[in-house]
Amino acid sequence: MTCDETRLLLHAYLDDELDAAQSASLLAHLGACNACAARYADHAQLRTALAQPALYRRAPDALRARWRATAPVAAPASTTARPRRGPLAFALAAGFAGALLLTSPAWIGSLRAPGTADDALVAQAVSGHLRSLQPQHLMDVASTDRHTVKPWFEGRLDFSPEVKDLAGQGFPLAGGRLDVVGGRTVAALVYRRHLHVINVFQWPGEAAADPQPYRQHGYTAIEWSGGGMRYVAVSDLNEAELRQFVREYREGAPLR
Ligand SMILES: [Zn+2]
Repeated sequence: MTCDETRLLLHAYLDDELDAAQSASLLAHLGACNACAARYADHAQLRTALAQPALYRRAPDALRARWRATAPVAAPASTTARPRRGPLAFALAAGFAGALLLTSPAWIGSLRAPGTADDALVAQAVSGHLRSLQPQHLMDVASTDRHTVKPWFEGRLDFSPEVKDLAGQGFPLAGGRLDVVGGRTVAALVYRRHLHVINVFQWPGEAAADPQPYRQHGYTAIEWSGGGMRYVAVSDLNEAELRQFVREYREGAPLR
């Protein structure tokens, strides 16, 4: 994939609209091209900022208050300087926001925030799991050896993911890849349980206190955090077995 093609497909990728093959070649290009990776990071950050529900709830009230202040009847004589600055600032802000929306109509769809921010993140992890099950999309590095998987992430992420060997507990490591959750690039580790696949997404952060298991389309997601990292495990395993996996993962010795 060329830089031009990557630029064209970035927003579609962020909106999870690409098929598995396109996503894979776009990710491959991002891994090899610093310019496109930087552009991707910028878009992802801006997109996350624009999706904050608070932005879209508070603005109208503030705007209405400003406009009311500019009305000739309501404006007291002592505040003559403020009404002039207010509308201009808002016109500039509106113009800026408008320009963003015009350059990327795909963002409009992301402005409707589903449920809480945490639910949205976990739902994205479930989407990432589903995407990973498409042919050729499960792993960027296929290896049962954590000593191969962990170094593969070096230089591809701004943090070092925790990779654990759980083969002895019946959850062999299969590999890893880069994925996107909440507009940021995260590590996805792939484990297996018989014929089932378990994705463990991880990135720096804190989960909400006492997160509840999340269920969607027959998949279960369990979230936790520790050591400054946030984790979401997703699988079609039954909930008891996924809980067992999470327990083994949390108790397993980290790679030295
Ligand atoms: Zn490029």
